[in-house]
Amino acid sequence: MTHMRPLIAGNWKMNGTGAALDEAKALAAALKAEPAAARVALCPPATLIERLARAVEGSAVEVGGQECHAEASGAFTGDVSAAMLADAGAGLVILGHSERRALHGETDADVAAKVEAALAAGLEPVICVGETLQQREAGEAVAVVQAQVAGSLPKSLNGKDFAVAYEPVWAIGTGLTPTVEQIEEVHRAVRAAMVARLGEAGRAAPILYGGSVKPSNAAEILKTPEVGGALVGGASLKAGDFLGIIRAA
Ligand code: PEP
Repeated sequence: MTHMRPLIAGNWKMNGTGAALDEAKALAAALKAEPAAARVALCPPATLIERLARAVEGSAVEVGGQECHAEASGAFTGDVSAAMLADAGAGLVILGHSERRALHGETDADVAAKVEAALAAGLEPVICVGETLQQREAGEAVAVVQAQVAGSLPKSLNGKDFAVAYEPVWAIGTGLTPTVEQIEEVHRAVRAAMVARLGEAGRAAPILYGGSVKPSNAAEILKTPEVGGALVGGASLKAGDFLGIIRAA
């Protein structure tokens, strides 16, 4: 959807202590000096959300979480609820990241429940889908991501702000990226699955690409049809690298 303002979101994963706030401040200052065409968000570890939100206050940098629990509160030691993220200053939350799916056993149904929780807390969910290398090599990439979209997107997303991120698992943190033809094929399939699930509302949300996006490949990826932005891991940790991607949008 070329008319939508792209979203470039940085996922810091389990990286960053207070010293990393300098990168967020540098990013905010650069975007103040020269505003970006894209929306820009940083998703730091939960411990940094509140401080980062304060550090970038008044700038174009939006703040997100990386994960939330499906319940609003309770006996869930170590977990963080969507309302807590919002209270700390987050406006978005990444859900269903492949690392959560693989390392914490999150299913599509778990992700859908977390999306509901995020919406209830007023957060904009960024819902991740993507196939493994084994699934791609078996010719199952499109079927896998379409099933993930069908299972991870609750109908309550209708009319709400959200994004889907297509992140091939084999491209995350590896330096490998699909061809733009492969990206376009899957993004079109994701769009079809979103429309099948949500009707016309499925056309309104951007589909981000994620997986080894860097300044050198961002422009080519971001101009691919149906690519509405990027979810960026490693290259979002340094303001200079992240800006190189943001300026390509
Ligand atoms: C990610 O983890 O969402 C991601 C895309 O990581 P990287 O950019 O490092 O591949």
